[in-house]
Amino acid sequence: ERMMEIRRQNCNPMTMKVTYYKKPVYIHQGHMQWLWDVDGRRYLDLFAGVATVSVGHCHPTRLQKVTAAAEKQLRKLWHTTNIYVYSPLHEYTEKLAATLPDPLKVIYLTNSGSEANDLAMLMARLHTGNFDVITLRGSYHGGSPHTMGLTSNAAYKYPVASGLGCHNTMCPDVFAGPWGGSNCRDSPIQTIRDCSCPQGSCTANDKYIGQLNEVFATSVPSRIAAFFAEPIMGVGGAVQYPKNFLKDTYKLVRERGGVCIADEVQTGFGRTGSHFWGFQGHDVIPDMVTMAKGIANGFPMGAVVTTPEVAASFAKGVHFNTFGGNPVACAIASSVLDTMEEDGTQQISHNVGTYLLTELAKMRDKYEIIGDVRGKGLQIGVEMVKDKASRKPLPPAAMSEIFEDTKDMGVLIGKGGVYGQTFRIKPPMCITRDDADFFLAVFNQALHNYME
Ligand code: PMP
Repeated sequence: ERMMEIRRQNCNPMTMKVTYYKKPVYIHQGHMQWLWDVDGRRYLDLFAGVATVSVGHCHPTRLQKVTAAAEKQLRKLWHTTNIYVYSPLHEYTEKLAATLPDPLKVIYLTNSGSEANDLAMLMARLHTGNFDVITLRGSYHGGSPHTMGLTSNAAYKYPVASGLGCHNTMCPDVFAGPWGGSNCRDSPIQTIRDCSCPQGSCTANDKYIGQLNEVFATSVPSRIAAFFAEPIMGVGGAVQYPKNFLKDTYKLVRERGGVCIADEVQTGFGRTGSHFWGFQGHDVIPDMVTMAKGIANGFPMGAVVTTPEVAASFAKGVHFNTFGGNPVACAIASSVLDTMEEDGTQQISHNVGTYLLTELAKMRDKYEIIGDVRGKGLQIGVEMVKDKASRKPLPPAAMSEIFEDTKDMGVLIGKGGVYGQTFRIKPPMCITRDDADFFLAVFNQALHNYME
């Protein structure tokens, strides 16, 4: 174990953080919703490599579906680049396009979510002839220098990358700047998350749309290139928006010449349970959809899907991506889509997610330190607070204590939120109600231990 830690420290840059500091987990093997460490300890994986292992680790069903598809393609053809034509590319893009409504039918394959968002931003600027981009406070859209500009969460920003800095000292809930993304970590917690209203009972939408109008009036020129938003925030902590927020915002953005981009890197592929794509829960059709993570169950892949109109503006130039649309990635992603249908992953996400949200809401009523339980399907956030009245975030040390304790009892979860105050639950979409019960018992025990 010590040797492994030395090897990690020698070879892995310090920017690569392990989640468990007290005792890092050395993962050895995975099977569906389970992971094993090098000592043979089994963990229920409720984070899925950050919402990525969509149908289950190694997916070893009776048919050996995903693993077999990968093996078969590896024996046939590894790589050509898209300067040639090959069938896995066409088979996959046709299948993916069929999951999306018209006119979202033109697909560009990338290798990650950041690449997809980079490309989407470029295409939006080329299409509209405008430059400014709007994103939401608390958002995460990637780690490349450009997407870092879209990302609002200060923890992921570096001051030398392009498009950084706090452009608006007010730090409103909805932020616009030449490069999007607010950066004020010390602003009061008064984010859009305070308006988490899945039932649509909230009236705060007027407030946010009002702020957006103010932003248009004061911070950006009247014409913008794009508005980026996740249908439900991921890294931001399962933040949901007031009813009609996305619909109204899309309208305002389009009136000002911008295109609307749904970042479905986390919410896509049935994760929100009720719909295959998160945007479908908001009664909108974006001009572009970006995706990655769950697309190929952990194999590196991403995509931008857009309209023929936007694609035509982009066609004026040449775009090349060596690995984008790699035959093995396409074969795996294709098998992932089949598996989702056969295994009913979206239904599992809906059923187990709804059960978890109901049970966690009961725990919220029981524990003073649970400030909010939110999300949809298997995109769940449990926001931890010092107390319900102040809603101040539970400090990092306390978060870590509960987090490590949960791990020691055999369950891996995630952390997020602007202040690192939200536990995130986004397991492979093959978990069962028994797994949910196991987690609830462990989490309950961890909270009980902490409160003692
Ligand atoms: N968008 C969202 C919503 C994400 O959650 C992430 C990754 N956490 C990204 C984009 C970037 O994806 P990648 O890490 O594959 O570049």
